[in-house]
Amino acid sequence: MKKGTVIKSTGSWYLVKENDGEPIPCRIKGKFRLDDLKSTNPVAVGDKVSFETDPGTGNGVIAEIAPRKNFIIRKATNLSKQSQILAANIDQAILLVTINYPITTTIFIDRFLTSAEAFNIPVTLLFNKVDRYDEKHLRQMKELKVIYENIGYKTMALSAKTQDDLSEVKALLTDKTTMISGHSGVGKSTLINRLEPGLNLKTRELSESHHTGKHTTTFAEMHPFSFGGYVIDTPGIRGFGLIMIEKEELYHYFREIFAVSHKCQFHNCTHLHEPGCAVKKAVEEEEIAFSRYNSYISILLNKDEKYR
Ligand code: GDP
Ligand code: ZN
Repeated sequence: MKKGTVIKSTGSWYLVKENDGEPIPCRIKGKFRLDDLKSTNPVAVGDKVSFETDPGTGNGVIAEIAPRKNFIIRKATNLSKQSQILAANIDQAILLVTINYPITTTIFIDRFLTSAEAFNIPVTLLFNKVDRYDEKHLRQMKELKVIYENIGYKTMALSAKTQDDLSEVKALLTDKTTMISGHSGVGKSTLINRLEPGLNLKTRELSESHHTGKHTTTFAEMHPFSFGGYVIDTPGIRGFGLIMIEKEELYHYFREIFAVSHKCQFHNCTHLHEPGCAVKKAVEEEEIAFSRYNSYISILLNKDEKYR
């Protein structure tokens, strides 16, 4: 039995890459019981699989999927009743953020971080387009960097377009499987093309009409970097939903809120209006950033709002 990583899926065929080998087209053998998520796809991009090859055709048959370190899913909607596993075994996510052109809000950042915490994916915040920032923008960026670094997130700043030396971000990506996310227009394609010229990713955002129209299936794909590692391309997916997060446990995914929550007077404190709430106290004392608390409340009160 050979072992490899699924780097592409078309629904019925999977491209599986052994360490240094060429990708081999594979099908699935029978049904996998592993899939207790009732997802449409039992095997996802990033899955580590065992497979056998047919000496005649050179094609393979996947027999086994290794347990996943993590995975992201697109949740079921009214249109598609089943959820879809988008990608598995993701080492990290990079969230591309721009202070302006376009504006990235702290709520957007915090929603992303919350989901990443729930999916167990480390995130680096990468501020892009610094060449366009005026003093006010630079000050805003600095404030945000302080907020996120204080709670343990790595941050970086760059200009994907004008900066010659991209070695810092290259080092971050080397030998890792990375998901690069962010609003449309923040510079994801620019960055990826600078890092790996010739790697022309599909358009990452589907037009709105696709979302509201009939059911669309999108398949993620992993593209290798020549310097080692992969970027996961998830067309149409800007982030990941909040599917796995129950209201009651949302605060677990705000690190600094979780860290003080055991001091709340009530063990089931929602940190909204209860007396003796250690979280509210920490916000008043500016130990927890108000923007973070504000995001917590927004997500808590609008949990089913469309992700954006
Ligand atoms: P994507 O939608 O996230 O893939 O964004 P694109 O890579 O298509 O970039 C959107 C626009 O922003 C393009 O016109 C890019 O040239 C521009 N852009 C990307 N990075 C930078 C940057 O660092 N500085 C400036 N000034 N423009 C950038
Ligand atoms: Zn509380």
